[in-house]
Amino acid sequence: MTDYSRNGKFERESRTSHSYIIRDEEVQAYLNNCTIPASTRNVELNTALKYTVDYPEGNSIEHIIAVDGENTTLPINEGFPSSLLTFFQFGSIVIEIKDLQDMEKKPFVSPEDIKKLKEIKREKLVLPTKNISLVGGMDFKTVVRTAIQDFFRKDHAWNSPMLETVYWFLFETYNPAAVKPVHMLSQCPQCGTRDIPLERDKMRPEYSWACTHHLCRKEIFLTDVFKLFERVDNETGAEAIVSMLRGVVETFLILHAIRQLIDIEEGLVSQFLFVKDGPLSFSGETAPMQLPMLKLLSYLSKTNNRINLVGVEAGGSFVEHAKQIRDKIKPGEVFLLNNAHIYRYVLVGDSKSQRYGESTYYGGKIIYKSLDERIYVLTLPVDNPVTYYSVPELKDLKNLQEVLFSVARLRCDIYENALIPIAVVNKMISLSTQAGTKILEKFAKKTVQK
Ligand SMILES: [Zn+2]
Repeated sequence: MTDYSRNGKFERESRTSHSYIIRDEEVQAYLNNCTIPASTRNVELNTALKYTVDYPEGNSIEHIIAVDGENTTLPINEGFPSSLLTFFQFGSIVIEIKDLQDMEKKPFVSPEDIKKLKEIKREKLVLPTKNISLVGGMDFKTVVRTAIQDFFRKDHAWNSPMLETVYWFLFETYNPAAVKPVHMLSQCPQCGTRDIPLERDKMRPEYSWACTHHLCRKEIFLTDVFKLFERVDNETGAEAIVSMLRGVVETFLILHAIRQLIDIEEGLVSQFLFVKDGPLSFSGETAPMQLPMLKLLSYLSKTNNRINLVGVEAGGSFVEHAKQIRDKIKPGEVFLLNNAHIYRYVLVGDSKSQRYGESTYYGGKIIYKSLDERIYVLTLPVDNPVTYYSVPELKDLKNLQEVLFSVARLRCDIYENALIPIAVVNKMISLSTQAGTKILEKFAKKTVQK
């Protein structure tokens, strides 16, 4: 049998099975009840949600801080049962707008350009992901929780632990007039007792509490408020929390910088633009952090410490959609995304009953076409995501003009849809090169043998 005929047969077969599927009455009936997002040709943009951006005459943003993380999970033994470790590397970078002006006309970022960008800071986190126990006979869930708490306990930027920032954020100590006395934790990670009150003044110096159940009394960590432990299982492991943990750390690295800048001098933080990789949201179990985040940003927006923050999506359904409709948006225009548009054209759902980002987002999503015709999917902080996604208005998006003015200067040609700071951080922390992986494997074997 020749290759040709084999291919021919294969194609005939697949065509046959294809038509069989569509002819099947049950399948047909099922498909009649399904909706899929409308095809691009039929996309109509609500003109009331399209705006031309008025760029500001001057710009008070002088520096940019970008944060990004990467992770890789590796087996550390051959054979069964397999043990897995996940290595995270996070990078933060501070960029001066004036350095960017020099780079502006270059087609891509060269190593010399990267050298100019100051204060690249890298941080590592090793997360036991499967079948790893520590000395002392801790169960796996406790091993994972301890690794997370220890990472947040380490000194980060400005020689202070991120645990201080989690505390500041959660108990709202940034607003002395309205400090929160207690945080309700959904359940104890040790005994499972529901609704454990974590009282601010009962917190121990090591940022932990004793469980309030009299038979348990075991240690609850401050970082348990992220609820990642709910997805960690002594048997199946911690793979389910990897991307959520990465998101939480990226967000808290930004919050940590915001807090320090506020402490240094009133108003200083407003000279910075914070760039986050991905949307402004807390996904999965970490969603309860959305509310304290909305409160923080809303409080700061009424002070002299205005926050310029933007989330940049580099891939996913929204980026695909933005590319498809790029000709429907003029250079210098933004299109605000509401439920009606999202559930008609981007995601499957019913815009009457579903509210996009209701319990996860603290930002409003927009599609932005810069004057040089690059298309971006961005989120900017909003006070109320439910109101935004139902009837979005330009004024809901905090400091939109200034932020977009800076975003337009950060265009990056290395990666499509990415911005220079994110691309640079990404390059700096990249774990994916072969050499990097070998080092990690060696490191893993050494760590575990000890
Ligand atoms: Zn307990």
